[in-house]
Amino acid sequence: MATRHVLAIGGSDAGISAALRARELDPGADVTVAVADAYPNFSICGIPYYVSGEVTHWRNLAHRSTADLEATGMRLRTDTRVAAIDAAAHTVDILDASGAASQLGYDALIVGTGAVSAVPPLPGLVGPGALGPHDGVHLLHSMGDTFAVMESLTTRSPQTAAIIGAGYIGLEMAEALTTRGIRVTQIEALPEVLPTVDPELGGLVRAELHRNGVEVLTDTTVTAIARTENGALTVTARHRGQTITRTADFVLVVVGVRPDTELAARAGAQLGANGAIVVDEAMRTNLPDVFAAGDCVHTHHRLLGATWLPLGTTAHKQGRVAGENALGGNARFGGSLGTQVVKVFDLVAARTGLREHEARAAGRGWAPATTASVCDDHKAYYPGATPIHLRITGDQTSGLLLGAQLVGHRSAEIAKRVDTYAAALFHAMTVEAVSELDLSYTPPLGSPWDAVQLATQQWVRDHHPAPRPGAPQQAAAL
Ligand SMILES: Cc1cc2nc3c(=O)[nH]c(=O)nc-3n(C[C@H](O)[C@H](O)[C@H](O)COP(=O)(O)OP(=O)(O)OC[C@H]3O[C@@H](n4cnc5c(N)ncnc54)[C@H](O)[C@@H]3O)c2cc1C
Repeated sequence: MATRHVLAIGGSDAGISAALRARELDPGADVTVAVADAYPNFSICGIPYYVSGEVTHWRNLAHRSTADLEATGMRLRTDTRVAAIDAAAHTVDILDASGAASQLGYDALIVGTGAVSAVPPLPGLVGPGALGPHDGVHLLHSMGDTFAVMESLTTRSPQTAAIIGAGYIGLEMAEALTTRGIRVTQIEALPEVLPTVDPELGGLVRAELHRNGVEVLTDTTVTAIARTENGALTVTARHRGQTITRTADFVLVVVGVRPDTELAARAGAQLGANGAIVVDEAMRTNLPDVFAAGDCVHTHHRLLGATWLPLGTTAHKQGRVAGENALGGNARFGGSLGTQVVKVFDLVAARTGLREHEARAAGRGWAPATTASVCDDHKAYYPGATPIHLRITGDQTSGLLLGAQLVGHRSAEIAKRVDTYAAALFHAMTVEAVSELDLSYTPPLGSPWDAVQLATQQWVRDHHPAPRPGAPQQAAAL
């Protein structure tokens, strides 16, 4: 049989997962990964912990070393940018580090170009004279961005920092910079930090930031960033009709990402949700023999259908599917639930599935309702019990579980607990059925009814009480 040539564009979670899977399934396949930078398979999720100093060397962020990757039999072409795809001819144009152009052919192509930082169109950030790393103004998405941040932190020794954005990366960086002894002001346009969870839970995260000395400005929209004559930076913002300014030695702009799709779009790939590449569940694009995976593609969400939800977990799974199908396989991406978790100092916040307003907007005819509960992480008589704040969302008509959000101390196994809900959601369980799960228990770690189940039982009492004995039964419609 002729050797199959698989080419992946991008050397992060999606591209490398695809290449690993292809090599695993067919050790005879010729698998090449073209990576624009020199850092294949680096865990960009770990960047905040390198900035904080907890990860002591940037090389430790590598999921696998280059030698590990090459030992699988894949060919890595680092510092190699794919400049164009000719889907009809099955070739790509590449530029190496010196700018020399050449061409590569493929039988199957996997686009894993990921995402790039969103840059708000503010004076000081775009246009002539835009400030950048040399001025102490930074974005944070790639290893290149990370080195620039570290260079600023070591050469400028900032005492103060402004972080624009209080999503999960902004919050992780607030902790990282505080750990380095820098006074941080966190600025968020929305009314509460961590806007991916309900404000009742975001408020707990804000309190944790305050406890650790971070100044938090919410409802505050940055309007300009400028450099003063002495090299300091001023951030100007509007807060409830007032203009406010903060001076800082270092500014980090982390207001989200957008899919990096220009290359695929120029080749004729169809774009969908949020401008991400449209793929089917086999990670196939509309172009012949071209697959795509990771942050550059729209995501099949098990409750919402097509959406865009850039996450490392999803990129790994989609890459694996694309790698298998590039060899002619028949794998399917099972779909995302948007399960995510973040640690902010000593607090952990997590969510999976939908919040109430998202479920209502989904147009699926649900009648969503949410119940808030506070349950101990383990038996109160054993030392160290801490409260977990839970919000369960379910459909009042069918009783279907739609989502869960949790905030608690980092010792409270929030990640394990959100994953229990994620598994229940994946299998379309009712809220009530969560109580049937055989979860583990020992007093120092849990309760006979785990917090996961106590919260769902409260939801059932509030929104879906069992019929009284003798009352007519109605089957739950899933
Ligand atoms: C600070 C930070 C923390 C995060 N924390 C988490 C977390 O805790 N949990 C989680 O699930 N997710 C997290 N994420 C998100 C996660 O890292 C991404 O979802 C994931 O890395 C996406 O992988 P990807 O392969 O799709 O794209 P990317 O990681 O964006 O990689 C794209 C790759 O394509 C290459 N490339 C782009 N264009 C070209 C071209 N033309 N030619 C050749 N190569 C090209 C790039 O060099 C890169 O190798 C975090 C992200 C950041 C920045």
